[in-house]
Amino acid sequence: MNYLETDIRYCKGIGEKKALLFNKLGVFTVRDLVSYFPRKYEDRSSFKPIALTCDGETVCINALAAEDAHLVRIRRGLELVKFRVVDESGSVDITFFNQPYIKNNIHRGDSLNIYGKIIAVGGKRTMTNPVIEREGAVGGVTGRIVPVYGLTTGLSQKIVMSAVRQALDACASDLPEVLPESLRKKYKLAQTGYAYENIHFPASFEDLELARRRLVFEELFLLACALGRMKGSHAKQSGILMHGQNIEEFFSSLPFIPTGAQRRAVADAVRDMQSGMAMNRLVQGDVGSGKTLVAAALIWYVWKNGHTSAFMAPTEILAEQHFETLSAFLAPFGLRIGKLTGSMTAKQKREVKAELAAGELDLVIGTHALFSEDVEYSDLALVITDEQHRFGVNQRSSLISKGEKPHVLVMSATPIPRTLALIIYGDLDISVIDEMPPGRQKVDTFAVTESYRTRLNGFIRKLVSEGRQVFVVCPMIEENEELPPNVKSAQEHAAELQKYFPDLRVACVHGKLRAKEKNDIMSTFVAGDIDILVSTTVIEVGVDVPNAALMIVENADRFGLSQLHQLRGRVGRGEHKSYCVLVSDSDNEATRARLKIMTKTNDGFKISEEDLKLRGPGDFFGSRQHGLPAMHIADLCSDMSVLQTAQQAAQELLLSDPELSAPEHAQLKTAVERLFTLNADALN
Ligand code: ADP
Ligand code: MG
Repeated sequence: MNYLETDIRYCKGIGEKKALLFNKLGVFTVRDLVSYFPRKYEDRSSFKPIALTCDGETVCINALAAEDAHLVRIRRGLELVKFRVVDESGSVDITFFNQPYIKNNIHRGDSLNIYGKIIAVGGKRTMTNPVIEREGAVGGVTGRIVPVYGLTTGLSQKIVMSAVRQALDACASDLPEVLPESLRKKYKLAQTGYAYENIHFPASFEDLELARRRLVFEELFLLACALGRMKGSHAKQSGILMHGQNIEEFFSSLPFIPTGAQRRAVADAVRDMQSGMAMNRLVQGDVGSGKTLVAAALIWYVWKNGHTSAFMAPTEILAEQHFETLSAFLAPFGLRIGKLTGSMTAKQKREVKAELAAGELDLVIGTHALFSEDVEYSDLALVITDEQHRFGVNQRSSLISKGEKPHVLVMSATPIPRTLALIIYGDLDISVIDEMPPGRQKVDTFAVTESYRTRLNGFIRKLVSEGRQVFVVCPMIEENEELPPNVKSAQEHAAELQKYFPDLRVACVHGKLRAKEKNDIMSTFVAGDIDILVSTTVIEVGVDVPNAALMIVENADRFGLSQLHQLRGRVGRGEHKSYCVLVSDSDNEATRARLKIMTKTNDGFKISEEDLKLRGPGDFFGSRQHGLPAMHIADLCSDMSVLQTAQQAAQELLLSDPELSAPEHAQLKTAVERLFTLNADALN
């Protein structure tokens, strides 16, 4: 067996107990251990003369002990060890708390490396509990750049560092070079052994940079190869063959003219479905760009070809709304349309299922209930999932498995920078709807503090008296979360508003309501019979209420920018001038800067780029729902240029050797396949 796969509990100095702690960090094998990269580094590489150190500075000094360490007992249970050290420029008084054994280790004349924080008061310098080493000690943590690892209770920096050190020493010769030499030369990338050594124990910051660049490249390159191969294998799957239809017949039935971007997306998908191969396409478009219409056109097209489509929405409310919208578009043509959601009665569900199994429906719209085990489709040819970032990737595939290689269209309103989309949806072809329907107005956005409350209430009053409706969104409060001061729950806030506006109709939707109750309230709001709708983010995606002209977000600092952008997209969908007010009392500079971005642009792509920059990709996507394997080292934001290079390199390589069967690609192939098996679920 490859030494890299050895369980760390068999490593020298680790053992059963510590192994369990390492497991908590995701480290199981020697390979994991050497791939457990430092979180950051401390520069302890140069020593500073004592006289040049300032108060509060964390520094490395090299000094002589001017006296033997001695014990000072302050009171019972509190013992100090004290001694003074000197260099040519000055002196520092060192104190250790509760480590009496140090007394025996330090003697007058010892030459020491000391790392710690200087406290300078009135020309007198002191250090408390510094890191102390004899000059020239092996495996030292002073006089060099020192790695800082993420830890867990029970594991210290020292333990992790020495475990990594031992692992590196033991496996140096086993580390495979997965990058073909020609590639390494072309892109000037360091060798594996050097890279692993210097990412943990860099000889200098230049070495660290070289090591990092190589490892980032490797990670992104492997991912690009894996996704590229997957896309290749998808493309080879044959699909249900469709034939040309006059799509203008559908377009001309609409109350408006489709945008060029909508037409392009439809044409892309139609081309896929006429190719004889299975379509696997992402339609990405900002909120309000009109994705539903694209879906409708394709459902129409598939129906014309005599087949059935399924449309999956992330929530009941959305399923309901899509059912209404799509019915309006399609029923005039005679399509038979059904609905299947969790909140329907058993009898209703049974009926729809029977119709589906008998092939009596041309379109079914629903939530994840669509792929329950007992749902059978007689002829499922097109699967559309809306707002896919809300679905696990597995859910998508279980719906797909209901048909005989149906065509798949994924619609996403998360505008992500194109490079990132290429990675995340590497297995899908992408159509971007980069054009808004005409006449769409900019939503004026304001970031305000609590002091604006009275004026804000006045503004609500004014808009409602003009006949408009208002959304108010409060952050979702988790049940186990202690309510931070100033954070309002939707219910409380709704009660306050009702008190303030006794004559207005205020309602509240929140996560704890049953689907049926939520639906009822939403339909009442859509019908115009509620003036102010207070909610948690259940309305985040999709709902369309053209008469709503004001979106207020309370505690706006608790939302991500992309989320705020989605929320803002709920207004400005009709002919009325619309507004978005972000209320936050946070005086954190970064937070205010974030909210300010919202007031400056309505461009979802620009906002998501800023969001990505500010929050990093991990937070950006929340959990790993995007289906990307966790990145060990690459930071998808700042490593964007490496990402592009790696992607290009992967494409070129796969073009010349699609199966990675060349002998010089053997290691690469193994690594790519490992990525596949590790992430079989995520990448599917
Ligand atoms: P999203 O991409 O956010 O799902 P929708 O499909 O809900 O957007 O469309 C937003 C609104 O724009 C809807 O009210 C829809 O009827 C309208 N719409 C879509 N396409 C056009 C168009 N080409 N011209 C005018 N209005 C359009
Ligand atoms: Mg939508």
